[in-house]
Amino acid sequence: MVYGTPLIDAFGRVHTKLRISVTDRCNIRCYYCMPETGTIFAPRAGLLSVDEIERIVRVAVRLGLRKFRLTGGEPLVWKDLGVLIKRLVDIDGVESLGLTTNGVLLADRAQELYDAGLRRINVHLDTMDRDAYRRIPRRDAFEKVMQGLQTASELGYESIKINAMAVKGQSEDDIVALARFGRQSGMQVRFIEFMPLDSQGLWNSEKVLSADVMVAILERAIGPLVPVPATDERAPATEFRFADGAGTVGFISSVTKPFCGNCNRLRLTSDGKLRYCLFAVEETDLRPLLQSPDDDAIAEAIFGCVRAKWRGHSINSTQFVAPPRPMSAIGG
Ligand code: SAM
Ligand code: SF4
Repeated sequence: MVYGTPLIDAFGRVHTKLRISVTDRCNIRCYYCMPETGTIFAPRAGLLSVDEIERIVRVAVRLGLRKFRLTGGEPLVWKDLGVLIKRLVDIDGVESLGLTTNGVLLADRAQELYDAGLRRINVHLDTMDRDAYRRIPRRDAFEKVMQGLQTASELGYESIKINAMAVKGQSEDDIVALARFGRQSGMQVRFIEFMPLDSQGLWNSEKVLSADVMVAILERAIGPLVPVPATDERAPATEFRFADGAGTVGFISSVTKPFCGNCNRLRLTSDGKLRYCLFAVEETDLRPLLQSPDDDAIAEAIFGCVRAKWRGHSINSTQFVAPPRPMSAIGG
């Protein structure tokens, strides 16, 4: 049987992390992720329930997965989120549970989620400019996100990070203001390179603001950045601290410096598909297996997905084929 054997793929990478998308729906419409109208969502009847996600996580833990993150779509629009968090933090072997959110509903739900046992939140905020914020997610919700950050920090969440997606020609000023905000608030801002996962096909390599260029912009505007040695060599973000000691920033450079060689994560979509990569074009459907009480079949399917994992994505090659799902339906 597969239990007790590390979840190791053909390239020697041991898998310990699972990102779980709880819904593909969202209450805003970031232009680089979803179209303003017309998105076809997965039928509600096909979405995993709390019981089903808990069951998959219990099997995953027996296989050695230890760190879990809930995402979407927007996880805070999913009413069962607090119940799920409570169930997952109570599982022996779940060492870490985090949430990735756009923060719009955070002020309303931060207490409920804290009470359920959540301690780690990544909040998506691309700009400190209220007008620009209105243009990016096509909603006027900047104040709500700021209130969410405030509420979460007052509640004592152990880790609150900001995720900012950067686009060349548009985000150069935003990244400076965000880094300044991070320095004042003590929250780390992590800048994400634009990836070819938008549902409208807007991506091209000319629009990628690379981590190297972002470092140069921040150094020019604020001051020298010093690389921080990685505490977890397999973490996707490269970290730097400002030389004056005030704050750190991170960069997720999936396009210009892919970290596939260190990848240790799997992804589960809200409709029960297991994926070995954000950019994978194939998926393992766990839903049919959930109809039977046989957990071993789920374990075999997870193992099979890891065994099938490719060496890495090919964003930078002419052979690249974008996955059929956009980021919002995979779980970013
Ligand atoms: N709704 C939540 C949020 O916005 O944080 C969770 C899901 S969202 C898909 C997760 C992250 O993916 C966000 O930080 C967002 O900026 C990022 N994202 C969405 N589309 C992207 C793209 N095409 N390239 C890079 N990052 C993207
Ligand atoms: Fe929604 Fe997150 Fe996509 Fe923005 S990035 S549209 S918040 S899922």
